[in-house]
Amino acid sequence: MTTRAKKWALGLAAALFCTGAAWSQETSSQTLAAGDLAALAGSTTDGSQVAFPSDAEIQQTYDLIADYHAKHLAELGVKLPQLRKSNGDYVLSALTLVYLARGYPDVKTVSKSELTQFMRQYVPGINDVQQARHLAAQSGWYILSGTRKDGRDMEIQPGEYRLINLEAAYPGFNSQRRVDLSSPDYWEQLKAAYGYRCACCGSKEGEPNFNWPDTTTVLQKGHMDPSQALGPGNLIPQCVKCNQPARDFWVFDDKGRVVAVANPQVIDRSSESIQFRIYEKLYRKYGGRDPLEIEEAAAAAAEAEETEPAEETPEPEIAPESEAPAAPIEETISDELDAPILF
Ligand SMILES: [Zn+2]
Repeated sequence: MTTRAKKWALGLAAALFCTGAAWSQETSSQTLAAGDLAALAGSTTDGSQVAFPSDAEIQQTYDLIADYHAKHLAELGVKLPQLRKSNGDYVLSALTLVYLARGYPDVKTVSKSELTQFMRQYVPGINDVQQARHLAAQSGWYILSGTRKDGRDMEIQPGEYRLINLEAAYPGFNSQRRVDLSSPDYWEQLKAAYGYRCACCGSKEGEPNFNWPDTTTVLQKGHMDPSQALGPGNLIPQCVKCNQPARDFWVFDDKGRVVAVANPQVIDRSSESIQFRIYEKLYRKYGGRDPLEIEEAAAAAAEAEETEPAEETPEPEIAPESEAPAAPIEETISDELDAPILF
């Protein structure tokens, strides 16, 4: 048992002694919550003792969060977890949010171990709490973590989390929804929505690039889908370092994640076994037919449709893949590519 764990156990024992509550590992969170063990305490990474919030404080903080959420965050698509499940148990992500928002706006940086100790009141034995990370990345809460690159801006160590504020979403979260695409300054708006950061690596415009500290970050208009025109709705801000090696190889989502291959040439850079698996997949899909034959059939079908417009059966928005003519491959890319292969 570590010193910290001993301290924690002692703190717990003292708290239980004081409240006179009967407690066992099997005690449900509801019973425990009803006991309202406000005096439960854990120790932080620096060894100092912290008092965990009571049920009343949890409710109060959650209400505060819900207020801010309704005023500022709901419209940005940030998702507020429910505080309790239908059986009365706390929802862990809501507890995490509450813990990080304690005393808002005067919040503290919270270590993962402190968060874990807090959670163990409700789920004894819980080990690896990932809720804070998910709250940021998946639900849009502006929580920075020391394990992410964005922590470099602040004094947040690996394994620590901090709620930045309750009036803005996590940078880059659902950013495209906040931009008026018809506005002449949509590009400025778009950059602002991403916190003036590269959607892929997070480097901030005008500041040193995260991966090349000697390079000042310049944001460029990056394609989300290179097969479509570069313009409103098909843009992400990308730093030069991320934009240039990506060329037209990848399709990105609005969070800068690679979601598809945009240029079949990248397949040449894949290993033989991956190339074989791709071949196998496509061979099965197209039944081993000659690509020319498929293209000609698709062209003939398109022509037939033009001469005989089908009024009653509207065309499906997305043509079945097997009928879609293959996009022309531009043989303009040299072999000596240094971009990493991301899939
Ligand atoms: Zn970048």
